[in-house]
Amino acid sequence: GDASVPSYAARLNPPQREAVLATEGPVLMLAGAGTGKTAALTARLAHLVATGRAWPSQILCVTFTNRAAREMRERVAGHLGDMAEGMQWLGTFHSICAKMLRRHAELVGLQQNYTIIDTDDQLRLLKQLITENDLDEKRWPARQLAGLIDRWKNRGLNPEDLDAAENESYANGRGQQFYRLYQERLKALNACDFGDLMLHMLNIFRRHREVLEDYQRRFKYILVDEYQDTNAVQYLWLRLLAQAHKNICVVGDDDQSIYSWRGAEVANILKFEKDFPGAKVVKLEQNYRSTPHILGAASGLIRANSERHEKTLWTEVNHGEKVRVIGVWDGPEEARRVGEEIERLEREGARLDQVAILVRAQYQTREFEDRFIQIGLGYRIVGGFRFYERAEIRDALAYLRVIAQPQDDLAFERIYNQPKRGLGAKTLEKMHLHARRTGMPLAAASLQLADSDELPARAAATIGALLRQFLHWREQAEQVTPADLLRMVLDETGYSEMLQKERTAEAAGRLENLSELARAMEEYETLGDFLEHVSLVMDNDAADDGEKVTIMTMHAAKGLEFDHVFLPGWEEGVFPSQRALDEGGLASLEEERRLAYVAITRARRRCTILHAANRRIYGQWTSSIPSRFIEELPAEHIDQHTTLTGGASLWRANWTESEDPFAHVSRDRPERSSHRGPGWQRALSTGYETKQVRVRENTRSAASFAAKPRSDIVIG
Ligand code: ATP
Ligand code: MG
Repeated sequence: GDASVPSYAARLNPPQREAVLATEGPVLMLAGAGTGKTAALTARLAHLVATGRAWPSQILCVTFTNRAAREMRERVAGHLGDMAEGMQWLGTFHSICAKMLRRHAELVGLQQNYTIIDTDDQLRLLKQLITENDLDEKRWPARQLAGLIDRWKNRGLNPEDLDAAENESYANGRGQQFYRLYQERLKALNACDFGDLMLHMLNIFRRHREVLEDYQRRFKYILVDEYQDTNAVQYLWLRLLAQAHKNICVVGDDDQSIYSWRGAEVANILKFEKDFPGAKVVKLEQNYRSTPHILGAASGLIRANSERHEKTLWTEVNHGEKVRVIGVWDGPEEARRVGEEIERLEREGARLDQVAILVRAQYQTREFEDRFIQIGLGYRIVGGFRFYERAEIRDALAYLRVIAQPQDDLAFERIYNQPKRGLGAKTLEKMHLHARRTGMPLAAASLQLADSDELPARAAATIGALLRQFLHWREQAEQVTPADLLRMVLDETGYSEMLQKERTAEAAGRLENLSELARAMEEYETLGDFLEHVSLVMDNDAADDGEKVTIMTMHAAKGLEFDHVFLPGWEEGVFPSQRALDEGGLASLEEERRLAYVAITRARRRCTILHAANRRIYGQWTSSIPSRFIEELPAEHIDQHTTLTGGASLWRANWTESEDPFAHVSRDRPERSSHRGPGWQRALSTGYETKQVRVRENTRSAASFAAKPRSDIVIG
């Protein structure tokens, strides 16, 4: 390019450049997928630093995932080198708030080394509260309460902010009481949950003017990616921060708003101009990511939604394949087919890290994992749930958490008898009782209890020994690396030995996981840093190690791009999800459609959609109906393939009765007339008898089909 243009600006088109150069005042970039919104935001960040408008530490930049933050940081560093150092405030809402909260914890009654608890702990805690307060947990599940509390927090509501209607929704008006009790209990544990990170900071900003003003002064510029998915508490937080100087630039796409279930409000982006009068609005229309067929398919699909801003998308690319829609027999065949396609792509020179399988729900990954392990295809599950949710990892983390934070009762409770030390529920009960009586954390109370004569001698000795070990590890934590500390713990507790003795493949796998955990910790200097990393990062990201196929949810794929994208499970009840169908509202269906739009637009070169005629759901086979979204794809942009004539392809217009060799089989099948009815899936899962018959019919279709020359039906 032009030598006088800085490298970060070299590639920008005129509207992108406009968004970069309009440094002062509010800017809104509302544009479709792949139009270079994130690219422009990154260039803007580089520009602000390069032109000396702000130090990196004076820019608040919010990305949707930690991974996106990392990429942005690397890009800017690539352009600016050392100048880019010190971007401390580049990250997700949660990671930024966690960092802020460490500095101001005392303002909300926490200590600086507070723990961030996960959903599992959250549920355990709520269960305790529910039982302690004589509520029937079966009638009023902890999960329901957890969901409510999360929603309140997402809306920026403290217990005292709830009105009567809100409060009614749990245990006949006791929701508020439980919310308050939960917050008190968290405080006593020196802990907070995920939702608190935002809410505590919002409260601090609202109640401590001087803290807010300090940050307002510090952040000369604010940049926000994926603004369409901000929820109320994030929105309020941003608005407070931006109020002083109003140099806020937000980018997003209303068609990609897919987190309303987490409280995201697409209205936030649509009212930006009202919130910040005089905002400069920049539109981007050229798509640099995908081929015309991929764009055509995605744009055609999203047009079925009612509430949206129509956007033009065009591309200079004038080649590329149509989006393929492949019907297969069942889940295993789907996985087999995708595996074969990926191997073919690999032979043709594709890089595996440019291949992604995007699923609607986590459970869908297993089928692919099984298959890929079988054929030796490298893959990684992005979403991280799997690794960090394994029992042995959670145990190890629990030990580390107690070392880092002696008040962490939940962690202590997890491991006080793991590996088995012969301490039973009775002992735990006594420990809890003593903790409550004395107001001490569980661990400390247990130590005191061990010195009294209230426990049987053996239990007392065991507990005493365990707690002395913790004191020892806490000392060691100052001297050895976190990874070495972990090894020490696994060794000295006998945890590793326990697994070694098992001599099973499973136990060996668990040991491998633990070494992998130690490997992951190697990158951290302090235990606190590592634990914070675990609680924050693992919801979305995985370390990038080598060329592997990525398997992730569509939700997690937002903002990313891959040359080749596979979208399995496009069936009613899977995608759109059963939940969306059951809720039945237009809004939930439209959100599913936006998700489909996001999924398709992740593809740069090739997009393959799959649907199976049969699925095993909860151990039972059911016939499935192709997703309505398939029918909504404009015909000129798709290519239909099928490996069978049963279930899947029967409803497509291109099949006539006479051509259909199994018309007699399908004639009495209810899908034909009512395949859009959400009731069908449910009807299937209740009528066991019917299902049996149906599966046999399908089997017959498949058998007869095998005799037919495949080339008739399999296109390409
Ligand atoms: P999404 O809505 O999915 O988040 P986006 O609008 O943020 O998409 P980007 O991810 O920024 O889009 O850009 C999409 C692709 O286009 C990237 O590969 C990016 O490098 C490329 N790109 C962006 N702007 C330009 C440009 N002016 N010239 C060439 N390529 C560009
Ligand atoms: Mg983007």
